[in-house]
Amino acid sequence: MRKSLVAANWKMLGRFADIAPYMAQLRLSDRADVVLFPSALHLQAAVLAAPDGLKCGVQDVGTSHGGAHTGEISADMVVEMGGSWCIVGHSERRIDQGETDDLVATKASAALKSGLLPIVCVGETLAEREAGHAETTVHRQLAAVLDRVDRSALSRIVVGYEPVWAIGTGESASADQAQEMHGFIRSQLDAMDPVAARLIRIVYGGSVTPDNASELFAQDDIDGGLVGGASLDARAFSAIVDAVPVGVA
Ligand code: PEP
Repeated sequence: MRKSLVAANWKMLGRFADIAPYMAQLRLSDRADVVLFPSALHLQAAVLAAPDGLKCGVQDVGTSHGGAHTGEISADMVVEMGGSWCIVGHSERRIDQGETDDLVATKASAALKSGLLPIVCVGETLAEREAGHAETTVHRQLAAVLDRVDRSALSRIVVGYEPVWAIGTGESASADQAQEMHGFIRSQLDAMDPVAARLIRIVYGGSVTPDNASELFAQDDIDGGLVGGASLDARAFSAIVDAVPVGVA
């Protein structure tokens, strides 16, 4: 059994003053693990205000466990401040900060060594999809991480499939498109470790809303969602959490 996971990525949005009212309106579900990713600056405030059952994390993490790396935040520091999750390889960082597959793999590995649970984001651009290279791109991005991560820690990763063309555009992948890629990712995991492949959660991200969440989450290989824009509104995000079906296999 894989328990669904629904995560809120606030990106460089959300303010300190928003945290308490957000927590007061948030509705969790025992059908899903729910994680909030505020800015790293707001992590501790979110941890302190979080209702029972809500976990918090950071949207990126450093590769090193400490040292002379100005501006970086180590996974150990995140754990020290009460965080338990991180995102690595979000397409906005791959594009804006030029993060490579290799760097993303190093971050995932550093996170796991410190006890942080990483959501590893993969996803093709529109140009890659139109050129018929969507699976090649996703396979390459994921392989970089799978090759680096210690086999005993493999089942602790979550894969976030986030087609770049669907992020923040209001144009979600269809449930069929998303399931097709999630099935492909599951088969890649299965080729490496069949036991871990059944345990690893693959969540979908890209314009998830209360209107499309139920259909997406009902797919066999979609184990929840990573939600950007709609997660800034506690009621909308709660409705997305509530869209997780009963008894996901
Ligand atoms: C994201 O940033 O991870 C994301 C999926 O954003 P949105 O839901 O706004 O498309």
